Amino acid sequence: MSKKILVIYTGGTIGMQASDSGYVAVPGFEQLLRNRLDNSHHALLPEFEVLEYEQLIDSANLRPDNWRQIASSISDNYARYDGFIVLHGTDTMAFTASALSFMLQGLGKPVILTGSQIPLSQLRNDALDNMITALLLAGESRPVNEVCVYFNGRLLRGNRASKVKATGLDAFDSPNFPWLGQVGIHIELHRQLLIQPAAEKFQIPEFDPAAVAILQIYPGMPATTAAAIINQPGVRAVIIQSYGVGNLPDADAELIAVLREAAAGGIQLLNLSRCLQAQVSQGAYACSAVLNEIGVISGGDMTLEAAFAKLHLLLATESDPQAMREQLQRSLAGEISLD
Ligand code: ASP
Repeated sequence: MSKKILVIYTGGTIGMQASDSGYVAVPGFEQLLRNRLDNSHHALLPEFEVLEYEQLIDSANLRPDNWRQIASSISDNYARYDGFIVLHGTDTMAFTASALSFMLQGLGKPVILTGSQIPLSQLRNDALDNMITALLLAGESRPVNEVCVYFNGRLLRGNRASKVKATGLDAFDSPNFPWLGQVGIHIELHRQLLIQPAAEKFQIPEFDPAAVAILQIYPGMPATTAAAIINQPGVRAVIIQSYGVGNLPDADAELIAVLREAAAGGIQLLNLSRCLQAQVSQGAYACSAVLNEIGVISGGDMTLEAAFAKLHLLLATESDPQAMREQLQRSLAGEISLD
């Protein structure tokens, strides 16, 4: 039976056109796409409808509120379609994919984010191929029941994906998790990796954009700089981006005191590595042992994007700090590897 897919066009390069001030997202994506496909192509694709947002955005302008808008579009239309494609700018696509994976837990249908590095309006582009393959993937007879990013031949778990290249067409990768599939002459899915549908647990809360801050450690970082970031009004959780397997300058007593005070004051501290490919192991080196003592949570091999979105979701939905700590260390949607 033919599948019906909802394509949600939020903006991004895929639907942009050149202007005097650079590329801008423009309306009319559906017409542009249908003009590029001829009738014989339509017959080979699943049936699709396009929901175009009134306010199209460059994803650099995206805020947590926009995650809610996209999740609501999917949730409101969930019963009427067999799958969803979210057309999105590449800059923050991995953040949105992560947020959707946590908001739409227990999905029983595919949600595939895609976009492009070159707009569909250009003669030479990666937009058409990404779009068509995403449609075919969303229309697979045995559905991929999770939030994914599809880009340039790679199907990636959404909350494992990161944008790794600014201009390469192979812009996305999932450095700490195998690709869910690759597309060459054939579409090959690694079904043993896919999340199995579970009881639906959709939650689309209000987010407080100030609640999560990121503290990137660098050589010689003054403790006062760390304190300024951590003590901003509204901050309830801080991602520490440390070195290697989770190391930081423990010889800086003032910096450690700032972290200790934050933890004692109820701010959740989560340790992630600055390395693209990494697994935090607090205490592997003496310089990170103090973090265990302070109560900093290890972020394991989560991406920055996944950890950021996960903290936002938990802060918005979980009032018990202990339950939040427990969930941070467990997989909610395949975002973290557990030994
Ligand atoms: N700035 C654009 C965006 O994220 C980049 C892109 O789509 O590739 O919307």
